[in-house]
Amino acid sequence: MQPATQAWWFAAGRLLGTVLLGLGAGWLFGNAWGGLAIALAVHLAWVLSNLFRLEWWLRHRSYADPPDSGGVWGEIIAQIVRLHRRKRFHKQRFVQLMRQLQRSTAALPDGVVILNAQREIVWFNLMASRLLGLRRSADLGMRIENLLREPAVVRYLASADYSNPIVIRPTGGEDGYLSLQVAPYGDGQLLLLVRDVSRQMRLEAVRRDFVANASHELRSPLTVISGYLETLAQDPSLEAELQGPVAEMRRQAERMTSIIRDLLELSRLEETDEVVGGRPVDIAALVSMLRKDVLGRPVHPGNVTVSVESDAQLIGDEPEIHSAFSNLVDNAAKYTPRGGAIHIRWWVDAQGGHFAVTDTGIGIPTEHIPRLTERFYRVDPGRSRSTGGSGLGLAIVKHVLQRHGATLEIKSAEGVGSTFTCHFPPARIALPQRAATATG
Ligand code: ADP
Repeated sequence: MQPATQAWWFAAGRLLGTVLLGLGAGWLFGNAWGGLAIALAVHLAWVLSNLFRLEWWLRHRSYADPPDSGGVWGEIIAQIVRLHRRKRFHKQRFVQLMRQLQRSTAALPDGVVILNAQREIVWFNLMASRLLGLRRSADLGMRIENLLREPAVVRYLASADYSNPIVIRPTGGEDGYLSLQVAPYGDGQLLLLVRDVSRQMRLEAVRRDFVANASHELRSPLTVISGYLETLAQDPSLEAELQGPVAEMRRQAERMTSIIRDLLELSRLEETDEVVGGRPVDIAALVSMLRKDVLGRPVHPGNVTVSVESDAQLIGDEPEIHSAFSNLVDNAAKYTPRGGAIHIRWWVDAQGGHFAVTDTGIGIPTEHIPRLTERFYRVDPGRSRSTGGSGLGLAIVKHVLQRHGATLEIKSAEGVGSTFTCHFPPARIALPQRAATATG
């Protein structure tokens, strides 16, 4: 039998004994019920004294020893002591774990800030205070937007799309560049990770400058070479066996010129990641110009159709938008055979404005699609070169769209065709004047 069960049996036996003793003693003195009442009162007083000692010990248990009671009371006290020990053990482990966590996060090379659902600072580590200039005493409990007033940060926190980090140049803390990434967790809480990316940004700037300078330097000699090659090609006295090589040299010089032009454009686009403002661009006019450009190519698919389903305009930088859209249309023309078709479409809905180019060309195997916008990434390098592609077109498209807060969606099936769609947010759409007056 368990000791606790034994103790309960003993307690029940003791109560029964008390009842019998009371009744027996009362009967001897001629009042059995009176004897029982006295015996029960004595028992109750004993129970109360045990309860009193237990309650006193619970209040002073940090320094007092537990009362020395046997039976059921002893069992209850032993249980409490066990629970107390277990609680103390878990508390110590928890405190140790917290200390380790604090030490390890303090040693992290990255800043960590914990924000509650109201975006108030709950905790931050040493690096975060250094990078963001936070002060432990004053800034705990403050809203993060009040401390980091950069519009980019405010926009980022409000966007609820934390898939990519943002890079800022803080005005308060250290000089340089900081990358901020939010990781939501729990019930609306946010973990803000702060990293010093000044070195990467400097290297990136060096790389950008190098590419821009090299392209710039190459442009002038190439212009001279192209000029001479053109003159040479037009020279009627050019020997027949040289005409082929000269024509090939001209083609290659043209390719180099287009690569350099695209590199320079990419460098310019990369200079700032900021979303450009711009003016309303007439997409209907742009689309009809793009169609004419395709039809003006020496080789082009026979069927080029357009559908402009909205006369809403797109707010952006016209040359950039033109460059991005014409790259997409150019690709469709390059990778679609003569018998194929191209369809250019512009429409507006609640999600914003959409520009799509669909072709019935060679298509792209699925595994290549995620990498298409990388610089110089080509599905079939030989084919791209033969069509005069620089391998930079889609990288330019991606950058232009990024600067306009837009995204590129690519759908393609090998041998069937592709659709490249640019999705612009509603803020980029300007309703036509008459619609605006009608509604206003
Ligand atoms: P390129 O100058 O080589 O066309 P891009 O950056 O414009 O470079 O495109 C990258 C690659 O994506 C191309 O080399 C080609 O393989 C593929 N691609 C782009 N557009 C299409 C399309 N409409 N159909 C098939 N493949 C395409």
